[in-house]
Amino acid sequence: MRLSSESNMLDYMFESVKKACAKCFQGNEPKHSATTLSTINRPKYPERVRIVEVGPRDGLQNEPQSVPTATKIEMIERLSKTGLKTVEATSFVSPKWVPQMSDHKEVFNSIEKKSGIRYPVLVPNVIGLEAAISAGVKEIAVFGSASETFSHRNINASIEESIKRFREVTEIALARGIRVRGYVSCVCGCPYEGPVAPKQVLKVAKALLEMGCYEISLGDTIGIGTPGDFRTMLETVLSEIPVDRIAVHCHDTYGQALANILVALELGVSVIDSSVAGLGGCPYAKGASGNVATEDLVYMLHGLGIQTGVNLSALLEVGQFISAVLQRPTRSKVALAMMQK
Ligand SMILES: [Zn+2]
Repeated sequence: MRLSSESNMLDYMFESVKKACAKCFQGNEPKHSATTLSTINRPKYPERVRIVEVGPRDGLQNEPQSVPTATKIEMIERLSKTGLKTVEATSFVSPKWVPQMSDHKEVFNSIEKKSGIRYPVLVPNVIGLEAAISAGVKEIAVFGSASETFSHRNINASIEESIKRFREVTEIALARGIRVRGYVSCVCGCPYEGPVAPKQVLKVAKALLEMGCYEISLGDTIGIGTPGDFRTMLETVLSEIPVDRIAVHCHDTYGQALANILVALELGVSVIDSSVAGLGGCPYAKGASGNVATEDLVYMLHGLGIQTGVNLSALLEVGQFISAVLQRPTRSKVALAMMQK
């Protein structure tokens, strides 16, 4: 159709809206005005988001290839110069279970700790906590699974037993003035059990909160959730837990991470985990993507007018650096697009 004048254009637009929104019209009179149509259901996003960079830990831990200690240190120090305020540094886990993190002490001791930046570490038990304390760690993360079978396979303990174990860890940490963050894994699904009930996620999140975690990061560990499931899960959790205590952690296995994060933003979540260059993988789906790429997250947030304090160009350089070390292409779409320019 050729539109010869502005008034024809307006008529055409009005007819299109009428067709698309037939129920709202009685005769030719719309129930709501054109202004309302453009603003209706427009979500309100948080003004600012804190990004928790998990690349050096969750990312590298799930990369098939081991990275030299010096590279990890350089990567963390480079990330600290991008404007990120939280960089998860390593995991104080037994090298028997996670050989990629066996240099945890050296990494943590060697990184230059910039003031205003937090460097949490993952701690699986009291032994790990003691090692973290002697390394001078100021913040730890503990974890619980929303799936019973995943809990057994991952840490050889039931959910109940793991909560008991982490209660002890948290008590000691808090008494030492160490902050504790909690992760809930498999919030949308489990590789063994399939879908996970949102009430189960709420139960584990509440237990972690009650033991003293200052924040709970809800992880779609296998990246299986779609925005509908993710919303239902989050609404269930937010029915009993204040939104300022909740973070989300989305893996991009099925390409749903940014869509799920958008849902979280709509519900007021303002802390998001991500991994530079989309580092990481999913041990249960070979060749699958890892965490949502921090570059892609920052690009989306800035596009939405949400502040992050992160410099995207500096971040892109860190992504390039680590991808070159791993000798594999970045998994950040934004990085791929920007590199073409
Ligand atoms: Zn993860």
